[in-house]
Amino acid sequence: HAQDRVFNFAAGPATLPERVLLKAQSELYNWRGSGMSVMEMSHRGKDFLSIINKAESDLRALLGIPEGDYAVLFLQGGATTQFAALPLNLCKPDDQVDFVVTGSWGDKAFKEAQKFCKPNLIWSGKPDKYTKIPTFQDLEQSEHARYLHICANETIHGVEFKTYPTPRNGLLVADMSSNFCSKPVNVTKFGVIYAGAQKNVGPSGVTIVIIRKDLIGNAQEKTPVMLDYKIHADNNSLYNTPPCYGIYMCGLVFEDLLEQGGLEEVEKKNKHKADLLYKAIDESKGFYRCPVEKSVRSLMNVPFTLEKSELEVEFVKEAAKEKMLQLKGHRSVGGMRASIYNAMPLAGVEKLVAFMKDFQARHA
Ligand code: PLP
Repeated sequence: HAQDRVFNFAAGPATLPERVLLKAQSELYNWRGSGMSVMEMSHRGKDFLSIINKAESDLRALLGIPEGDYAVLFLQGGATTQFAALPLNLCKPDDQVDFVVTGSWGDKAFKEAQKFCKPNLIWSGKPDKYTKIPTFQDLEQSEHARYLHICANETIHGVEFKTYPTPRNGLLVADMSSNFCSKPVNVTKFGVIYAGAQKNVGPSGVTIVIIRKDLIGNAQEKTPVMLDYKIHADNNSLYNTPPCYGIYMCGLVFEDLLEQGGLEEVEKKNKHKADLLYKAIDESKGFYRCPVEKSVRSLMNVPFTLEKSELEVEFVKEAAKEKMLQLKGHRSVGGMRASIYNAMPLAGVEKLVAFMKDFQARHA
């Protein structure tokens, strides 16, 4: 029952579209006359092949991924596994790569890469507590960097790239875990885009990698088969047993995003939701505060603090009573964070804004 659902502001795993959940529920017991659920099917049977192929072609349609030039892989291990897979596949051990670190996830990717290549930290937002994105003219890129790595949206800090830097050597690599499919992206600007599914497009357990085909096939010798893009590309993501049910769920989400009119429409909705929330924060006369520089505020993750920080526990508690959950900020930064991914309904954001105003009136 819809009335039993809460507004879930979690950063991930995150809320999924109600339509998708209901469709999955209706197909759970007997997927389209197959007599079994997607969880029980052979990953090599024609039913599952139709599911994974449709998921891929719908994702290609959504993002305009060129068929000939880019491979789409459905992998496991989370975005965290890609922190290692990227340097293993794209670099020799002595190759340099550049990292622009705008938050904790970029920092984790940078640290993992140190095991497999020679990464340079060419910009860090840490001194500003990760509230900024650099201006690209100021970036001093290394002459021989194999690629430039960014995290397109830092989930914990709520900073998002609005445009993308041009790498000196033509290869841009982006972790899009927390803003994947939230807006249109020109895929051809990137060598690799990767994302864990569990924020915008499905359950945890599926990691999507979109990679330019000419970059596949040069993995370091020690690369485990499970991290080798060539193995997965040659086998259409079916080298071993894939996360079948998760891929099916991602497919339902892609279908739903297409039915909404595609990513331009989705972005409009996301902008509207984010505008409402940032406006409420900025117009609170300092009662609420968002530390992120205005021009790079995330449409997906909205961090904010209370001027009277001693009220933060109360805020989270009262919100939970009104069925708005998971508003506590990440343990590393404190405060609050509202994650408002694609599937967060406008009604959820409106309810949160009304609650914030009421809370302020009672506690100002
Ligand atoms: N990158 C970003 C931007 C994230 O938000 C997360 C969050 O969980 C990760 C990477 C790590 O992803 P995973 O937990 O799928 O390994």
